[in-house]
Amino acid sequence: MKTDLFIGNRWRAASSGETFDVINPATEKVIARVASASAEDADLAVEAARSCFDGGSWSGMAATKRGRLLHRCATLLESRLDEFARLESAHNGKTLFEAKIEVSMSASVLRYYAGWADKVEGRTVPVGGPNLVYTRREPVGVVAAIVPWNFPLNLAAWKFAPALAAGCSVILKPASETPLTALAFAELTREAGLPDGAFNVLTGGGSTAGAALVRSSGVDKIAFTGSTEVGRRIMAEAAAANRRISLELGGKSPNIIFSDADIDAAVRGALTGIFYGKGEVCAAGSRLLVDQSVHDEVVEKLAGRAAKLTPGDPLEKSTRMGALVSKGQLENVMAYIERGVREGARLVAGGKRATWNGKGYFVEATVFDRVTPEMSIAREEIFGPVLAVLPFDGEEAAVRLANETDYGLAAGVWTREVGKAHRVAASIRAGTVWINTYNLYDPAAPFGGFKASGFGRDLGGEALGGYLENKTVWVNLG
Ligand code: NAP
Ligand code: MG
Repeated sequence: MKTDLFIGNRWRAASSGETFDVINPATEKVIARVASASAEDADLAVEAARSCFDGGSWSGMAATKRGRLLHRCATLLESRLDEFARLESAHNGKTLFEAKIEVSMSASVLRYYAGWADKVEGRTVPVGGPNLVYTRREPVGVVAAIVPWNFPLNLAAWKFAPALAAGCSVILKPASETPLTALAFAELTREAGLPDGAFNVLTGGGSTAGAALVRSSGVDKIAFTGSTEVGRRIMAEAAAANRRISLELGGKSPNIIFSDADIDAAVRGALTGIFYGKGEVCAAGSRLLVDQSVHDEVVEKLAGRAAKLTPGDPLEKSTRMGALVSKGQLENVMAYIERGVREGARLVAGGKRATWNGKGYFVEATVFDRVTPEMSIAREEIFGPVLAVLPFDGEEAAVRLANETDYGLAAGVWTREVGKAHRVAASIRAGTVWINTYNLYDPAAPFGGFKASGFGRDLGGEALGGYLENKTVWVNLG
């Protein structure tokens, strides 16, 4: 497979000749050596994207044709779903089952925005005097998309699909752990016929390649998904340079089970809420708030089912728990489990590292009961398969507890009472609320955070708007 930088539709080694290793976290083996871009390479990528944008080969292409080319990318991706899913599993550690869902979602996102390409319209504005006023929606320019390792292709597609549909040129900076599907996708955009420089992939370190993109005056917008800490740093740099940004950051999302809920459905939802994707999910329902009258029943069922989610070979069809993305992430998660025990929470499932064939960065599905709001496992994002259960008494207490967090990405509500479901949904300060379900996504449904979880939205028409400028044109009719 291609492991060089993809700039202006050509593959090129890093100017320094440097590479970095990509590791399969389930086997601990090096599976690729990928070009490590320097600031100099970042400049080349910006130049390619800039000249594509300014030259109009993509931004000025008939919108219908742009849409057709994006549909072609989606078709090619669908035809290679298995190959992409295997690659996604290999560098990320997720199960093939989950990787297939992810790749197919990426193709759907491309299709959704392919459909938008020729539906970007301005309006006429009724002003006074003999004037015609109309608005135009124009692409924002060169977009640097900087993304994390948990859903490498999909979270990238959430940015490059609307950006490309809008007519922007894109430079994608994948996470260092997971650059392979971005590179495979680059080859596919060339095959689809995207013009030189419309889509570029710059692999390399965040503090080198990533930081160079953030500082580059040739970049008009930075679309970032990742940690709150790096997001803050990017925001500060972008502020100094007047650069547009959108940030999708972390979460510590509450999943609330009321006593009148369908308890079995709620327990299933709690399990997918935290253990899907090994818990390396920004919207993970990592705080399970349970009405005290059903608490014992919920915890017993949860613990029993969590114990059955044994980690194993990600490529095995029946495996539902893959490997954490890296040794570093494994260590972070294990440190949180130790802290949970030390702080006095009661471990009711999992808690240990696991291996497959004696290798791999696996962690058991872990559930802590009797967690109190001040414990670190109740406050901090763990980004692993660790659930904190907190009891509550009554609707008001549930809402208060749910909002007792710096984050505001998502929430779940489990109840049979319609009024309560909507009251609570309205009271929670979060970008997405799932009622009697969890972790559902659709290209048409906007996604993003309140509070420390960021601003701007991915998906839906909202995300497209983030890659467009509004221009107002006045015409003297006198
Ligand atoms: P991260 O360290 O913030 O990295 C995200 C991306 O930013 C990576 O491509 C990284 O490159 C790059 N980067 C790092 N430092 C940079 C800098 N100074 N300038 C420019 N780019 C820089 O996050 P992560 O460790 O990959 O992912 C885990 C975190 O992401 C979690 O905290 C999670 O909450 C968050 N997340 C949020 C969402 C959401 O939608 N809200 C989704 C997924 C993940 P390197 O990989 O080379 O360091
Ligand atoms: Mg990182």
